[in-house]
Amino acid sequence: MSEFSPVYGPVKSWRYGCSLGIDPIGRVSTCSFNCVYCQLGQIERSSLQRQTFVPTAAVVTELVPKLQKDLDVITVSGSGEPTLALNLGEIIIAVKEKTATPVVVLTNGSMLGLESVRWDLRLADEVSVKLDAVTPERVRRVNRPRFAWDWSVFWHNLLRWREQFGGTLTVQTMLLSIWSEAERQMYIDRLKELQPDRVYLNIPRRPKPLRRLLQGRENLTAVENSTWLKPLSIDYLETFARTIKEESQVPVSYAVALK
Ligand code: SF4
Repeated sequence: MSEFSPVYGPVKSWRYGCSLGIDPIGRVSTCSFNCVYCQLGQIERSSLQRQTFVPTAAVVTELVPKLQKDLDVITVSGSGEPTLALNLGEIIIAVKEKTATPVVVLTNGSMLGLESVRWDLRLADEVSVKLDAVTPERVRRVNRPRFAWDWSVFWHNLLRWREQFGGTLTVQTMLLSIWSEAERQMYIDRLKELQPDRVYLNIPRRPKPLRRLLQGRENLTAVENSTWLKPLSIDYLETFARTIKEESQVPVSYAVALK
């Protein structure tokens, strides 16, 4: 495996433009989920335990030489669930001392019940929460939580976070198959309740490595020992995006090209 650095990229993101990545998790992929489409490959370590994986000083040392004028965002995600990093808040503060570039945290939301996590996340400019399903059954099949997962607890925590957070809250949804009409309506009703600032609809457009791959943090196009999930059509994505926008008034962006 290639040498680990907690700062990677910049990569071109269809959602955020030129994005420099920060990985507070480290060489061993660590998450509370094991999503079927995860670009990191199989998650190596399952955890709900916050700990310091990468020292904040190491992040800062690697960050400073990579700061450049044309960055649109600094994205904290990397090799797993970033809220598992005990020093997440410390990292965001340190980044903000070095640059005015907005900081986005991508999270699966599984840790939002912890006050310490909410305290750290409030420092970000944008928090983007994964919402790939609105039924426990689909969560089980798509996100494959490694721990007991209670949909109503997750939703309660997310609604509470919505009320508390002064920054931008977005929702990211990976669509793997055609949803039933009832499920689509349930999703729209949830968005009406949550009122996020934007929804990002996505479809699998990259290979899923069969084993852990550090480069999975970036924009993989081709890799050995990988599988491809068959993507839904852009037409389906467009139609769903239009319906969401009309019924919930929440702005929607969706991926149309491989970027
Ligand atoms: S939540 Fe993210 S890092 Fe964790 S398994 Fe899913 S896609 Fe991978």
